[in-house]
Amino acid sequence: MMSSPLGLYLHIPFCRQRCDFCAFYLEIHRESRAEGFVRSLIHEIGLSAQQHVAAGRLIQSVYIGGGTPTVLASTQLIAILSEIRSHFTLTSDREITVEAHPSTISQQDLVQLRQAGVTRISFGAESMEDGELARIGRPGAVRETVKAVTQARTAGFTNINLDLMYGLPGQNLESWQRTLANCLTLAPTHLSCYALTVEQDTKLASNIKRQRSPAPDEDLQIEMDEAAQRILVEAGYERYEVSNYAKPGYACRHNLLYWTNGEYLGLGPSAQSYLGGTRFGNVADIAAYDTSLAASQLPMEDRTRLSEEEQLRDAVIFGLRLTRGIPSQHLHQHAANYGHAAVTAQLLAQQLIEEDGGRSRLSARGRLQADTIAGQLY
Ligand code: SF4
Repeated sequence: MMSSPLGLYLHIPFCRQRCDFCAFYLEIHRESRAEGFVRSLIHEIGLSAQQHVAAGRLIQSVYIGGGTPTVLASTQLIAILSEIRSHFTLTSDREITVEAHPSTISQQDLVQLRQAGVTRISFGAESMEDGELARIGRPGAVRETVKAVTQARTAGFTNINLDLMYGLPGQNLESWQRTLANCLTLAPTHLSCYALTVEQDTKLASNIKRQRSPAPDEDLQIEMDEAAQRILVEAGYERYEVSNYAKPGYACRHNLLYWTNGEYLGLGPSAQSYLGGTRFGNVADIAAYDTSLAASQLPMEDRTRLSEEEQLRDAVIFGLRLTRGIPSQHLHQHAANYGHAAVTAQLLAQQLIEEDGGRSRLSARGRLQADTIAGQLY
C-alpha cells in the first residue's frame, strides 16, 4: 500500500525578544548563532532524507514555525526551502507556510518568499489593540500587522492567517470584539484564536504571582470564545477545529495532519515527529543540536513506540476537536480499551460530545472545555 504524504515541520528557535506568556524553546536572535543554526538545519534536512524512515516519502506540506522564522533573512529561509526541494519530493498541491511576526518582514522579503514557492503566510497578530500587545510584552504595533497583511497581498499571497489570543491582561469583551472586527477588514483566509494560558516559569506567571497582572478569567474567556464563533461564522468562516477558523477550502493542511493522526517529520531543535507509529523529538538545545549535526548524527532523543491502543487514543482525542469529528466506533473502542465507558457515556449525556451519522465530535459547549475533556479521555 502507498503511504500517504507527510508533513514537514521546521522549528526556527529564535525571536527578537521573549513575549511574557511564551514558554517555547527559543533563544534571542543573534546573527552569528543563527548562521550556524541554518548550516545545521540544512545538514539535518539532507541526513533525514537519507537515513530516516521518511526517506522516499512524498511531502504534502511544509511548515516553517518557531520562534519567529522571519528573524532569519529571507535568503536563509529560501536556502532552507531549496534544500528541502533538493532532497524531498513535494506533492503538486503542497502547502508551504511560513510564520511571520509582522514587524520582522518587509515587502521585499514577502515577494522573495512568494517567488520561492511559499503558499501561505501566518502572521502572529495576537491583538489589534496596541495597549494589549504592550501588556503581554509583545513587540510591534497594530499598524505593522495591517501593513504586513497589505504587503503580503501585494506580493501575491492569497492564503493569509492571523493568530489571535483572548483573555489577555486588560482585555475585555468589547476590545476582543473590536480586534475581531479589525481583523475581518483585513480579510484573512484563516484565523486561529487561542485562549491565553499561563505556562510555568514565564514572566506572565511571575507577574500574576506578584499581582502585577491579572490571571485570565475563565468565564470571560468562554464568553470571548462564543463571541469569536458567532462573529466569524457570520462572516463566512468555518470553525473546523477548536481554535481554528477558515474560509471554505482554506483549512491548514499541515495542522490537519496533527488532528487526524497523520504523519509528520519535525526538524530543528525541540521539533517533534510522528512516523510509523513512533513519536520522537529532537534535542531542545541549539548547542547540542549543532554538535550532533557537526558529527553527522541526527539530533534525536525521546523515542516512544505507540501501541495500537495508544495510536487510537491519540486519534480520538485530537479528532474530536475537529468539526468533522471521528467515526463513533473509534470513540467507543477507545472507551473500551481504557475503561472510559462511564466517562464517555457521561460526556454524551451532558452533550459535551455529540454523535450523529456515525460520527462523534465535541459539541459547541464541549469545544469550550476541550482540554478538560481530553484529560478525561486520556
Ligand atoms: S514571538 Fe512567538 S515564539 Fe517568539 S517569544 Fe513571542 S510568542 Fe514566543
